[in-house]
Amino acid sequence: MAVGTPSRALRPYTCSSCARSLKLRSRKFATAASPDIYDVVCVGGGPTGLSLLTALRSSKATSHLRLALVESQDLDRARKWDLPPDQYSNRASSLTPSSQFFLSKIGAWPHVDTSRVQPYHHMRVWDGLSSTARIAFDSPAPEPAIAHMTENQNLTRALLARLESLEPITIFDKTSVANINLGSQPSSPASEDTSLDLSSYPHVTLSSDHTVATRLLVGADGINGPVRTFAGIRTRGWDYDRHGVVATLRLPSDFSHDPGNSRGVTAYQRFLPTGPIALLALPGSYASLVWTATSTQAAKLKSLSTEDFLAMVNAAFRLSVVDLDYMFALSSGQFDELQWRESVSSSTSKEASGDIPQAVEGVQNNSIASFPLRLRHASSYTTHRTALVGDAAHTIHPLAGQGLNMGLGDSRSLASAIEYAVIHGADIGNEMNCLDKYNSEMWMGNNRMLGAVDKLHWLYSVKNGPVIPLRGLGLRAVDALGEWGVKRWVMRQAGAL
Ligand SMILES: Cc1cc2nc3c(=O)[nH]c(=O)nc-3n(C[C@H](O)[C@H](O)[C@H](O)COP(=O)(O)OP(=O)(O)OC[C@H]3O[C@@H](n4cnc5c(N)ncnc54)[C@H](O)[C@@H]3O)c2cc1C
Repeated sequence: MAVGTPSRALRPYTCSSCARSLKLRSRKFATAASPDIYDVVCVGGGPTGLSLLTALRSSKATSHLRLALVESQDLDRARKWDLPPDQYSNRASSLTPSSQFFLSKIGAWPHVDTSRVQPYHHMRVWDGLSSTARIAFDSPAPEPAIAHMTENQNLTRALLARLESLEPITIFDKTSVANINLGSQPSSPASEDTSLDLSSYPHVTLSSDHTVATRLLVGADGINGPVRTFAGIRTRGWDYDRHGVVATLRLPSDFSHDPGNSRGVTAYQRFLPTGPIALLALPGSYASLVWTATSTQAAKLKSLSTEDFLAMVNAAFRLSVVDLDYMFALSSGQFDELQWRESVSSSTSKEASGDIPQAVEGVQNNSIASFPLRLRHASSYTTHRTALVGDAAHTIHPLAGQGLNMGLGDSRSLASAIEYAVIHGADIGNEMNCLDKYNSEMWMGNNRMLGAVDKLHWLYSVKNGPVIPLRGLGLRAVDALGEWGVKRWVMRQAGAL
C-alpha cells in the first residue's frame, strides 16, 4: 500500500535545463504503463533501510529527494509496537556510542523509548576452558557507556516515527519485490541530456504490479534480499553450523546489575567450545540471552521445561565444559542436576564479586528462539545505480554484537556520499561520482571486523591442544595491558572510545 505522498517532483541536481528536461521526460513517461520515477528506492524497512532514508530526509542537502521504501512486512505493526514494562522483545542489540551518535544526529534517538534501553559500562569476558583467563572492559567514564542494549523494535519504531515526522516519502509496505530489471530504451530519441535515459535505471516491479524506476536502488533487504541478485554481486562466506539461541530472562527481584563494580552495569560473555554465551542487561531485573550453540543443542534447549532451560543457562556460566556436556546429554532433570553440582562446588563468591552473573530465575513466555549463524560478505557494496547496506551487504557472527552497528555505519556513510554528490551536482547513481566513496569508506573496515570476529569464533572453538594455554595467556596479557594497547584498540573497535 502506498502511504504518504511524494514530497516534490523528482529534481535533478545538475542545472535548470536538466530540471526542465526531466519534467518533460517525466511527463512523456507518465502513461499507464510508465514507471514512477524516484531518486532513491530502498528495498527493506529494517533498521538499516529506515536509518538511511531518515538520514537522507533529515539532511538539508538531500531532504528534497524523491524517496520510496518497499517493505514486505506490515509497517503498522512496527508503528504500534508496544510492550508492557515487564516484557522485552527477544531481539535486542547492543548499540555502540557511534551508532547512538548517528541516530541522534538524524533525530531518531529522541524517539527511542529510553526507559527500555540499558546502558552498560563493564564487560566480563572469559574462556570456558580456563577459569583464570579473563578480560575486563571498563568504560573510562560514566559517558559514553560501552554500549546501550536496545530492542530492535524500539529502534525501528523510533526510526519510523522520525521519518514520518519529516516530509513524507512513498511507502509501499505489505509489498514485496516481484522483479527488478533495467528499463527498456525510450521509444523516442533521447534528448540532449543522456543522464535522464531511463534505460540505465533499475525498474522494480512490486507484488502489486506497480513499477518504480529509480536513479539509485538500495538493497537493505537482509541476507536473502533480491537487490544483490539483481546487481549480480557475489558474496563469500560460510555457515557456522551454529544457532544463536535468544531469550528474555528474569533475574532475582533483589538483583543488582552492579554486584562487583562501584558504578554501572556489567555484561557477561563466556566462550564455550561451541561458541559464546552472553547475558546482556536490560532495564530492571531483565536480561537478554544470546547463546551460540550447535543445532542439536539449540533444539534441546528449546525443548526443555522452563526450570531445566534456566538450569542450563546458569550451568553454562558456572560449570565446567565437561559437566555442561553431561547436562546436555540428559533428556530432562537438568534443574536437579545443577542443584546437586552446585552443592558440591559453590560459585557464590564469584557471583558476589561480579565475575559471573547472578543466577537467572525466569524466562519470558515464548521468548526462546534460535537463528542460524552465518558469515557473508558481498564482494562489493555497489554497482551502477545500486548499493547494498546492512545485512544485505554483510552478515556477521553475533559474538561481538556488531551486525546492526555495521549496518548503521553503512547508512551513515552512504547518506553522506549521496549528500556530497547532490551538493556537487553529480549523479547519485554513478559509481565514480558517488557510490565509490561509500564502498571505499566501508568495505575494508567491515571486512576487517568480519575477519576478526570469524577468527575469534574459530580460536575459541578449539577444545584441546596447545592453543588452549596460549589463548589463555593472550587473554591475560591483553587484560594486563589495562586501558592501553590492545584493550583500548578493542574498545575503540566496539565504538566505546
Ligand atoms: C542472535 C543475534 C543477535 C544479534 N545481536 C546483535 C547485537 O547485539 N548488536 C548488533 O549490532 N547486531 C546484532 N545482531 C545483528 C542484527 O540483528 C542485524 O545485523 C540487523 O538486524 C540487520 O538489520 P537490516 O536492517 O540490515 O536487515 P533486516 O533486519 O534483515 O531487514 C531487512 C528487511 O528487508 C525486508 N525484505 C526482505 N526481502 C524483501 C523483499 N523481497 N521485498 C521487500 N522487503 C524485503 C524484510 O522484511 C526486513 O524488514 C544480532 C543478530 C542475531 C541473529
